[in-house]
Amino acid sequence: MTKPVILAVDDDAAVLRAIERDLRAHYSAEYRVLTSSSPSEGLEAARELAARNAPVALFLVDQRMPGMTGIELLREAMKVHPNSRRVLLTAYADTDVAIAGINEIALDHYLMKPWDPPEHRLYPVLDDLLGEWRARARPPFEGVRILGSPLSPQSYIAREFLSRNRVPYEWVDIDAEPTARALAESLAGDVTRLPLVLFPDGTHLVAPSQVELATKAGLQTKAQQPMYDVVIIGGGPAGLANAVYAASEGLRAVLVESHAAGGQAGTSSLIENYLGFPSGVTGADLAHRATTQARRFGAELLTGQAVVALRREDPYRVVVLADGSELRTYCVVITTGLQTARLDARGLEPLHGIGVYYGAALSEAARYRGKEICIVGGANSAGQAALFLSRYASRVTILLRAVDLSPTMARYLVDRIRAEQNISVLTEVVVEEACGEGALRSVTIKSLKTGEARSVPAAAMFIFIGAKPRTDAFAGVLERDDGGFIYTGSDLPKEHGRPRGWTLERAPLMFETSIPGVFAAGDVRAGANRRVAAAVGEGSAAIYSVHQYLRTV
Ligand SMILES: Cc1cc2nc3c(=O)[nH]c(=O)nc-3n(C[C@H](O)[C@H](O)[C@H](O)COP(=O)(O)OP(=O)(O)OC[C@H]3O[C@@H](n4cnc5c(N)ncnc54)[C@H](O)[C@@H]3O)c2cc1C
Repeated sequence: MTKPVILAVDDDAAVLRAIERDLRAHYSAEYRVLTSSSPSEGLEAARELAARNAPVALFLVDQRMPGMTGIELLREAMKVHPNSRRVLLTAYADTDVAIAGINEIALDHYLMKPWDPPEHRLYPVLDDLLGEWRARARPPFEGVRILGSPLSPQSYIAREFLSRNRVPYEWVDIDAEPTARALAESLAGDVTRLPLVLFPDGTHLVAPSQVELATKAGLQTKAQQPMYDVVIIGGGPAGLANAVYAASEGLRAVLVESHAAGGQAGTSSLIENYLGFPSGVTGADLAHRATTQARRFGAELLTGQAVVALRREDPYRVVVLADGSELRTYCVVITTGLQTARLDARGLEPLHGIGVYYGAALSEAARYRGKEICIVGGANSAGQAALFLSRYASRVTILLRAVDLSPTMARYLVDRIRAEQNISVLTEVVVEEACGEGALRSVTIKSLKTGEARSVPAAAMFIFIGAKPRTDAFAGVLERDDGGFIYTGSDLPKEHGRPRGWTLERAPLMFETSIPGVFAAGDVRAGANRRVAAAVGEGSAAIYSVHQYLRTV
């Protein structure tokens, strides 16, 4: 832990030198002694220390200073350091002010100048105060801190992004902690734009984009090489497997992930059907193992960067990122997978991220401890989420359009759901409305049998209804089916017995799209079997085609 601070402020240079000398002589082994000759700079230093989560154990502040009195300075500093001890340095004539300060700002002591000898007149007083402070001090969290509000969807997005990327952080609710609100106001001016993300180096970001957050949190966001053999778009199981095989087989490979490695599988609370893990493996663990493996072989992984376009400049393929930067490569493997489809019901948008979630927002589970929640959908992902969330929520209600769970959900999940006391299933219903302001209170559902509407109490609703491929960036560039899935190999639509628009003599390779050297694998590929193992298999096998293609350029 970094040493707590003693901050002394006095505009008289000679007095400040004397304070500093005496404080350092006695306290420098255990405290960092900082000084300032200007009250405004002293206050600024106090705020910067709060932004770094560096505790100030004691303020020792002169009362008579130009522009701001010691009491005024302490009043402001207390807003961000409420637990610090406060000592005012006074002249004899200021004692009335100091006594008033005891009431007004809970001043701990006033010290008359001069304080010689310090062994008698300074150290005993400060030793007592610092002893009291230490007895109550909690070790500060030294990593990233997110200051936000449970009512702010952007705060949820930042939390979820850091959780998924395994960046430890402390969540501070400014609605519940006035000190945090004061700090946010002092750093950002106001708190209309949230969250405020504070970094241990003392810097902060206001309502950052994912790429800004990723960069500051130390994740790689920029490619290091001017040219690659293969650029992999999407870091789910297919992309990660592709990166492992590409890099281990000596190819210059970079994987670009818009959110967090692991993809859909990374949001699974427990994958039980993946070979080699008889007790199951969490999506987060699998993603961590795979990213470590890919990096160990030398693949680069860019996080928080979305691919927005793809261009052909023979013999190169150019991949364009959202920040405008471009990656030049011979081959591209698209493994952008699926995203949960949006539910068409009233009242959802304003509650998105503050009660309404698409997919398994595992980072939010603890917020709903002891509360009633709903799950919409009947696939395996919904079943896993229901079981996981039932450990926190008092009641989980699965809302299902179908007549039964069985046809869409794996048997082992259905059996476990039926055995759980606090999970119930409402069949043949659709969601009509999410109700609540600033937080979800209930969900209005309609029976498909009777047309009757009713309200189900819910503090949160997790939606898992179908999924659509993430291929907008390739619209008009690659051949896709009506649902947006990418055609590959022998599935490419034909004209006069040949793939439409295909100019090469040879037939498209396995996983090759309508552009030579551009491949697609995993859930995003038309006809894929949507499972973790299948995605891993396709991602791995696609590298064989990449090698074949590279021999031709
Ligand atoms: C909650 C849940 C639980 C599941 N549980 C199981 C299970 O137990 N067993 C099982 O076999 N299957 C399970 N599945 C299905 C399985 O996770 C998927 O089949 C698998 O993840 C597909 O892998 P993928 O790599 O093809 O795509 P995805 O996992 O969808 O990964 C695609 C990645 O690409 C990124 N991306 C998308 N667009 C861009 C872009 N433009 N630029 C950069 N990056 C982009 C995404 O952020 C994502 O990380 C589950 C799915 C979910 C949602």
